[in-house]
Amino acid sequence: MKLIDTHTHIYLPEFDSDRDNVVERAVCKGVKIMLMPNIDVCSLKPMIEASERYKGICLPMAGLHPTSVKEDFENQLEQIEKQLNSSQIIAVGETGIDLYWDKTFINEQIISFRRQLEWAVEQNLPAVIHSRNAFAEIFNVLEEFRDSRLKGVFHAFSGNIETAQKAISMGFKLGIGGVVTFKNSDLSRIVKEAGLDNIVLETDSPYLAPVPYRGKRNESSYLCIVNSKIAEIFKMAEEKTAEITTLNALNLFNINE
Ligand SMILES: [Zn+2]
Repeated sequence: MKLIDTHTHIYLPEFDSDRDNVVERAVCKGVKIMLMPNIDVCSLKPMIEASERYKGICLPMAGLHPTSVKEDFENQLEQIEKQLNSSQIIAVGETGIDLYWDKTFINEQIISFRRQLEWAVEQNLPAVIHSRNAFAEIFNVLEEFRDSRLKGVFHAFSGNIETAQKAISMGFKLGIGGVVTFKNSDLSRIVKEAGLDNIVLETDSPYLAPVPYRGKRNESSYLCIVNSKIAEIFKMAEEKTAEITTLNALNLFNINE
């Protein structure tokens, strides 16, 4: 069985004491590729170091996370764009809009998001979108790219079925992780409705660990728990859901093997 974790922050300090073991455990569980979304200028260095240490396993992205968009965002974007042009970057991300914690920089967040989508189109890379309390604002910007070849994923998808269908109609996949295992979540229903061809699997580790590790540090090896849940939802063999979601990820991120 082969799985791809399309969203892990394995380069964060949470993994400093046992990163080698975490990567090894994941690979042993079939998680052969892990995609690393960037956060800000400061996370570029540890992320690139991880991509060099785990070559061909941990693949880097370049982007500015919406909660890191502050007064200095233009400067940060400039530095991150340099990274985009200088190494084996697999996607633009994570980018998006987050109005849950703070709306102070809403205009800057929109400008930053639009700029990063332009990079994605120019470089023909998928965009990894973080959306929190911001679907209307996100779709407004995405409308501007209707006729481009923009594609990507709504990471940690948290919308309803209408939002899911709209995202899919615009060329996006839904990133599904540990939340699908939570008892109080209706994500299972939305996943079923969206269909297996429109989802990719992710952990968002160290965050959002699946049951029975909810609240603890998440890691990429737990992706097989997410896959088991997906198999249960579609009443299919785990090997089959792994195969389909992995193929979705390979195609979306243009990974040649
Ligand atoms: Zn993330």
